[in-house]
Amino acid sequence: MSLRVRFAPSPTGHLHIGGARTALSNFLEARREGGIFVLRIEDTDPERSKREHEEQILRDLAWLGLRWEEGPDVGGPFAPYRQSERYDRYRAVAEDLLARGHAYRCNASSEELDALRAAQTAAGEDPRYDRRNREANLGPDCGPHVIRVKMPIEGVTVLDDLIKGRIEIPNEKLDDLVIIRSDGTPTYNFVVVVDDHDMGITLVARGDDHVNNTPKQIHIYHAMGAEVPRFAHLPMILGPDGSRLSKRHGDTSLGSYRDMGILAEAMLNYLARLGWSHGDQEVFTEAELISLFRLQDVGSSGARWDMDKLKWLNQTWIQGMAPAELTHRCLPFFEAQGYAVAEHQDRLVHIVSALQKRSPTLVDLASQARFFFVPDAELSFDEAAVGKHLKGEAGTLLRSLAARLAALSDWSEPALSAACEALLAELGLKMGKLAQPVRVALTGQGVGPGLYEMLLGLGQARSVARLEAAAAKANPPG
Ligand code: GLU
Repeated sequence: MSLRVRFAPSPTGHLHIGGARTALSNFLEARREGGIFVLRIEDTDPERSKREHEEQILRDLAWLGLRWEEGPDVGGPFAPYRQSERYDRYRAVAEDLLARGHAYRCNASSEELDALRAAQTAAGEDPRYDRRNREANLGPDCGPHVIRVKMPIEGVTVLDDLIKGRIEIPNEKLDDLVIIRSDGTPTYNFVVVVDDHDMGITLVARGDDHVNNTPKQIHIYHAMGAEVPRFAHLPMILGPDGSRLSKRHGDTSLGSYRDMGILAEAMLNYLARLGWSHGDQEVFTEAELISLFRLQDVGSSGARWDMDKLKWLNQTWIQGMAPAELTHRCLPFFEAQGYAVAEHQDRLVHIVSALQKRSPTLVDLASQARFFFVPDAELSFDEAAVGKHLKGEAGTLLRSLAARLAALSDWSEPALSAACEALLAELGLKMGKLAQPVRVALTGQGVGPGLYEMLLGLGQARSVARLEAAAAKANPPG
């Protein structure tokens, strides 16, 4: 049977990076095996589930580069892929379990169950449901009731987890689980099994926050007479202090990393490497991950989130990206800075190339690009750099360079380099004498991109204007 995996987010908020990592693991597994990746929306909580969350989750997954063969947006042979649209099916399965004696109605009131728990606690026992009504065979007219599934009372349930190994749970620990609440709505453990069965899922890979649910789910498969899939429980992502990653450690939504200018390629690379490795290789393309990543090679203990490493990977991906593609990725970040992108259209690639080697994130790149976009008159100057480099003969030098550059009919790196070399030869100076005054003139700062990178990014008119303005600043004419 070919592999079918799924990612089953609840649309109750943004996509957490842990969820993104679970989705990615399923995606890679499906791609390697030529299987099917299903996206299913678990929107059984009507209060907290929102369509806009669902849409955002789908957009975030697509941003990361994930593709699914079946899902609420693309349909598929087992549609619908939203649990809220499958209630008739859950009801029918519950009726079938009742009819075959695998489930039963229980009309114990909440007061009765509270009293039971209080008595158990007083006697020093763990509070749990006492299986009352398991054999009572109550009919649908027994008043307000829930439907519970019969769990085995003896023996052990064995879970052979792909990541965690063998886990054994004594069945006496398993309560007769409610599958339909008294208001008629189905519960998570029930619907997830019905759906995974109906959708032909052969491997369930999810976060290990669900590992305690799995034995209960295995018995629901048994009760349904359905084949039990394989399971893989991914350890939680930990914060730097070793506790489960949460908001107090920083950003936890995938979208917040996109917004801070992490490339999807770097995020994909980083998420796959969390708790998984292949020799000492750090940088992986999607294609490499598809061939190399295996769920069973994921470590069984939690991996720590390491922002420095993510930024390092991001910088590596930024440096390796084709400038035209990187420019395209930078546009929203330039717009967010308020830059008049359209006015600089033909120089954008030069601007991005100038900063590509020096930016850990796209936000960082965009903020460093400010001097390229601001009107000349608004360029802000670092006074220390001005004091050091825009004085005395620098004025003459900048004025001569401005004149030479103004005369160029070709604004290319070879032409710029020839013009600068000619000027230096004429004045008997070394490049070092020229670069710093020019940098301060063009950027206002003492550090920045290379000489030709700055000139190409600014273009002829603005470069000449800035050189002339700085020359006047350094030694006023006359
Ligand atoms: N909807 C569940 C969640 O978001 C996923 C359950 C599962 O993968 O079985 O945690």
